[in-house]
Amino acid sequence: MNTPKDAAARRAIEPVICYPVDTLPVPEMAAYKRARATMTKVDEVVVPPRDASCFTVPAGHFFRIVSVEGAQVGDLNLWARDNLNERFYSGKTRALHGTHITTGQRMWTSFPYLRPMATITHDTLDWYGKDEFGGSVHDVIGTRCDPYTHHLLAGGQYHHCCHSNLTRALANHLGVPMVDAEPHVHDVLNVFMCTGFTRNTGQYFMKASPVRPGDYLEFYAEIDLLGALSACPGGDCSAEHSSDVAACYPLLVEIYAPEAGRIETMAEPDISGYDRSHGA
Ligand SMILES: [Zn+2]
Repeated sequence: MNTPKDAAARRAIEPVICYPVDTLPVPEMAAYKRARATMTKVDEVVVPPRDASCFTVPAGHFFRIVSVEGAQVGDLNLWARDNLNERFYSGKTRALHGTHITTGQRMWTSFPYLRPMATITHDTLDWYGKDEFGGSVHDVIGTRCDPYTHHLLAGGQYHHCCHSNLTRALANHLGVPMVDAEPHVHDVLNVFMCTGFTRNTGQYFMKASPVRPGDYLEFYAEIDLLGALSACPGGDCSAEHSSDVAACYPLLVEIYAPEAGRIETMAEPDISGYDRSHGA
């Protein structure tokens, strides 16, 4: 190995944050708090274990992903309801907010839109923080368990990975063939999943989710949303996914309407102001 003489000095350079967020518009948490104090449940959708369900949320409503029956991880996809090309952008959300998201942080949409689609307004697992392994909950680093990676690493045909569950749910919701629905499925928010990177090898790890029945993650819909949620075949993801071995439980999606409708002071977020000429 050709280690340069100044290796230690080079390594000692302090990191800088890639995307300082001091110029990001700060969500008006007080306004969300006032609105959620008046909300009532208007709908709910059950997500069966090892399966996925779709749901819609009008702009200005809240929705919750609730743990019921047992510790279970959920893989969430979100789209602008009337334009599936605008969808959750996990990578950019990670670049802006870090590897895991919680109250006061947002789910951002894909290019060329890049605007907040949902704001997290309550998280009953916010006490977890970061554990001694560097693990935390609700990550935007994993992708979603899928039959392609499973086939690559283990062979076989497994049909209840989150990717397939989301594809089936979306195909049924839209009334289109699987092959047309699949390209819309994208990297997820791993709700309730406890993950991190190992310090020595930098590998993506998971561990048993700290979620318990009654816990929930709550969002405010900034725009009209179509969602799909998969109850991961990994269950609490303490051991493995992409199999029928783990204990799996349903998840519940609850939709809430605030008394006064959409929060008055908050207009629908504008799409990105970049002119898209790309220097041409
Ligand atoms: Zn999964």
